[in-house]
Amino acid sequence: MTLNLKHHGAITGVTGSCHELTIGNQGILVDCGLFQGSDSQGRASASELAIEFPIDHIQALVVTHVHIDHVGRIPYLLAAGFEGPILCSEPSARLLPAMLEDALKIGFTRDHELIERVLGLISERTRAIPYNQWQPVFEDGDTALSIRLQRAGHILGSAYVECDARSGNARERIVFSGDLGAPGTPLIPSPEPPQACDRLILESTYGDRDHEHRDDRRHQLRTVIEQALDDGGTVLIPAFSLGRTQELLYELETLFHDNHGEPWRDLEIVVDSPLAANFTDLYRQLKPFWDEEALERVHAGRHPLSFEQLTVIDTHEDHVRAVDYLNDTGRPCVVLAGSGMCDGGRIVNYLKAMLGQPRNDVVFVGYQAEGTPGRDILRYGPRGGWVELDDERYTINAGIHQLSGFSAHAGRSDLLRFVNGIHPAPKEIRLVHGDPPAKEALASQLRDQTSARVTIPSR
Ligand SMILES: [Zn+2]
Repeated sequence: MTLNLKHHGAITGVTGSCHELTIGNQGILVDCGLFQGSDSQGRASASELAIEFPIDHIQALVVTHVHIDHVGRIPYLLAAGFEGPILCSEPSARLLPAMLEDALKIGFTRDHELIERVLGLISERTRAIPYNQWQPVFEDGDTALSIRLQRAGHILGSAYVECDARSGNARERIVFSGDLGAPGTPLIPSPEPPQACDRLILESTYGDRDHEHRDDRRHQLRTVIEQALDDGGTVLIPAFSLGRTQELLYELETLFHDNHGEPWRDLEIVVDSPLAANFTDLYRQLKPFWDEEALERVHAGRHPLSFEQLTVIDTHEDHVRAVDYLNDTGRPCVVLAGSGMCDGGRIVNYLKAMLGQPRNDVVFVGYQAEGTPGRDILRYGPRGGWVELDDERYTINAGIHQLSGFSAHAGRSDLLRFVNGIHPAPKEIRLVHGDPPAKEALASQLRDQTSARVTIPSR
C-alpha cells in the first residue's frame, strides 16, 4: 500500500501539531496547530503562518482536541483553499468556535466581519462524530480510509484517532495519539489503549519523567497555597484557559469542601479571563461527558466548577483594577489567568506588578516550553534572577513553585502502559510532540519493552 506519513509540526518541540496521512492520491490532516515559544522561530505574522505545504489532496481535517497548538492554524488552512470537513468529537465541536474566536482576535485580524465570516465557515465545516464509531472519510477506487475517535483523557473532547486504511487487499491501522492525558485527570474519563495498531504516532511530552500521584498533587496544591499565603500576598497560577483552569477549579472546590480553617475560610479564587470563564461555562454544559466521580459530586449537590469562593473577571477595566487592588492591599488571593506559559494574556500584567515582592508566589502547573517567559521564570526565579516581559526586565523575588502532578499529559509510565496495552504490538512507533531528551528517553524505553521499530521523525 502506498501509504505516506508527513509531519508538518510538533517535530522539534511540542507545538504546531499537524500530521498528514496519505493513501494513494488522497489524504487527511490530523490537527493544524500554532507554533509557540522557540518552535515559532519568529513565525508570528499572518504571512509566516500561511500553510506552506500542498493541500489539494487533503480530504478532511481531523482535530484531536481544541488546544491552540492543535487548532490555531485552521483559519490559515481555510485561507489556503482547504474545502473538506473538520471532523472532531462532540465536545470539541462545541469548544472549537470559542477557542478560534479568541485566536482570530489576537493573531489574525481585528476586522469583526472577517472574524464572523471565518467562524461561520468553520462551523459549517465542523462535523461532530461520536466516540468509538467508525466513520468513512474517503473512498477512491480500491483505496479507502475510515477513522474512529477514542477518548484521550487530556481535556474535555480530546481524542486519539484510529485510522483504518485500505488499498486493494492490503489493510493498515494507524493511530495518532494526539495529546494523551494522565489517568485521574479530574472530570475526564481516562484513556484506554487501542485494540490493535500497525503504526502509532505518539506524543512524548513527558517521555522522560513521571508525575506525582493525583492525591499527592491535591495535597501539594494545598500545602503550596497555605505556605504561600502565610505572609499574605497573591498566588498566581498561569493556566491554559481550556482544561487546566477547569481541573484546578475542580481541585480547589475539593480543598474548600475539605478544609475550613485558615487560609481557606476567607480565601478568594479569581479567574481573570473571559475566555477561561467561557470555557468553564461550556464545560458545565457538557456534563454528559464528565467522568463518574464528577457526576457523583453533582448528584451530591456540589458544584465542582462554580463554587461560592469563585470570582470571574471579565472586562479589561476590572482586570486592571484587580491587579492594582491586590498589589496595593496584599490581600490573600489565588489568581488563575492565561496564558499558561506567560507569553501573553492577563497573567503578564500580574507578573509585572507582583514578581518583585517576596510575599507573592507563582505556582506553575503546566509544561513550560523552551523560549517562553514561563520557562525563564521557572529556571531563573528561584535564584533571584530576572525575566523579560514585553522587552523589559523584571527581577523575581516572588516564590516560584512547580507542581508536576497537574500535568494534563501522560507521564512516561502512562505512555508505556498505553503502548503495552496494544495487541498485537505496533510495528512502528513514531515519536512526536516532545523535546529531544524526552523523545530519546522514551524511544530507548520503548525499544527495550516492545518489538516496534521506534523512530523520531525530523520532517
Ligand atoms: Zn493539548
